[in-house]
Amino acid sequence: MAFALNTYPVTYRAKYSDGKWADEYLEKPHKTPEDEAAMGDEDRAKLENSRNYYDDMPLVNYTTQYGLACFEGLKALPQKNGGLAVFRPDRNAARFYSSMEGLYMPPFPEEMFISSCLETVKRNAALGFKPVYNSDWEKDSYISADSVYIRPFTISESGIGVNLSHEPYVMVINTPVSAYFSSGNSDAVVTERIRATPSGTGWIKACSNYAISALAKSEAFKAGYMECIFLDAVHRKYIEEGSSCNIFFYLKSGELVTPELGDTILPGITRASIIELARDRGVKTTERRVSIDEALEETKECFVSGTAAGATPLTSITYQGRKVIFNDSQTGEFTREIRDTIKGIQYGKLPDTKNWMVQVI
Ligand SMILES: *Cc1c(COP(=O)(O)O)cnc(C)c1O
Repeated sequence: MAFALNTYPVTYRAKYSDGKWADEYLEKPHKTPEDEAAMGDEDRAKLENSRNYYDDMPLVNYTTQYGLACFEGLKALPQKNGGLAVFRPDRNAARFYSSMEGLYMPPFPEEMFISSCLETVKRNAALGFKPVYNSDWEKDSYISADSVYIRPFTISESGIGVNLSHEPYVMVINTPVSAYFSSGNSDAVVTERIRATPSGTGWIKACSNYAISALAKSEAFKAGYMECIFLDAVHRKYIEEGSSCNIFFYLKSGELVTPELGDTILPGITRASIIELARDRGVKTTERRVSIDEALEETKECFVSGTAAGATPLTSITYQGRKVIFNDSQTGEFTREIRDTIKGIQYGKLPDTKNWMVQVI
């Protein structure tokens, strides 16, 4: 599976108490990567489970009971010239900080966020747990490429009454990933469900937002679509996001549009990077409201963006039973260029003129 849990041995744990953060790196049970690969399924599953269990952490807490938590996702990517580099960790650090503030938790210092992300990758690589660059990936523009997914997240302290988390844990785990969207088609459907409401938590990378996304995505999947699209809660008319990705429309007029940020849209780092790259290319790029009618009428190419998705084309959108196909169901030229540019920078094939990459090893 493309995104299976297969945690690398070294994890990070910080805990806030008495007004400060105390932290540690944990080395969970492991063999060499080669020996692990040679293990039988049952033994391997046991070993992987042992890495994912922490018997000194509270089971009953505001996260497991009420979904009070937030998380981040970023990648360390194998570089064409060797080693591993992380894409824009400072941006994830800043977003994690504001997510925690948004949930009224003591925010995790940005420099601790960055160092724990880089250090887990470095320590796992030192044990041999790291993907290695493969030039075959260049042939499909890194769609099949491997990377390390870094997942920082919060867990609350013990508690059962509805409450805020004043003394959270911050954990960082690493797990290997390959291609995110693996199903055969690239069709999307507009869901009736509402992901985020004004004055809610849509702008926070909050775990609780994901219940609705997961329901809507599974409904879309069962109906034969790869992705679902959310409309706004008030007008039921303006496009907001994909299931857990931002969305872009390259219009027939040559304008690139993406829904403007607000309290119902997650400020994606891939989104911000694509806006910058498109403007550099001289493409008129606008953050504004996009109605579903405009999108269906005027779109030449459509794609969703996110750390896991990269820039993934949507070849059609179905709304109220009407399916509109874009660009003869082919990945469009603009989408391809954007995807190739961002992937090229991330994997060190193109020069990192923006200083987005932080070399780890
Ligand atoms: C994480 C996320 C994104 C994408 O953000 P990136 O920083 O580009 O990975 C988009 N939408 C939602 C709802 C998300 O949780």
